[in-house]
Amino acid sequence: MTPLAMMADSAEVLARPDLGEHLLTPLERERAGRFRLESSRADFVAAHLLVRECAARLLGLPVAGLTLLQRCPDCARDDHGKPYLAEHPEAQVSLSHGRGVVAAAAGLQPVGVDVEQPSKGTAAEVMERVLSAGELRRVREHAEPDRAFLRLWVRKEAMVKLGRTTLDTLTEIDLSGLELDGSPLRGRYGDLHLLDWEDELRGAAVGVVSTEAPRVEQL
Ligand SMILES: [Zn+2]
Repeated sequence: MTPLAMMADSAEVLARPDLGEHLLTPLERERAGRFRLESSRADFVAAHLLVRECAARLLGLPVAGLTLLQRCPDCARDDHGKPYLAEHPEAQVSLSHGRGVVAAAAGLQPVGVDVEQPSKGTAAEVMERVLSAGELRRVREHAEPDRAFLRLWVRKEAMVKLGRTTLDTLTEIDLSGLELDGSPLRGRYGDLHLLDWEDELRGAAVGVVSTEAPRVEQL
């Protein structure tokens, strides 16, 4: 089964009556309640709902039957770390939230998703911490370096979500051979299939990575 990815405005997710907060676990509600900004709270909730919708479509199941849990492999706490479905541990899920925008992915194979919005003038130290030498060169030579950086960043962050690398070892992943211009773009890195695109309307870039080529659906 092809892994499935979705992206949406937080507001459009929250406007769906079948994707209400009643679907969240008590722990997710408690975590949502920790946000000081209402908009950040909304983004968190929307991402946790969209990933359920994504998994429900993938598995052909009603969204109300899915319980989303998390477990950190390092400290064994359950309020962060890799998300999974209580009822379907064989499914892999991933979620990401930005400012007013969310993305999610689900598959029966490893999958990771990331959504990011551009920040003007990404600091050189930040780029050096996450990009390989070849990628740095590509970004610096690019007519729109911030935009080029964002494309590489969503791909790499999606790989982190998939569990292929960590934030500390990102410079060891070298995607400098892949295209940076065009949307959507598909690429390969070893056994991984990469798909990423720019959403001009929402001002965001999304990256999806899986061991099979992912497909995208609208909410
Ligand atoms: Zn932890």
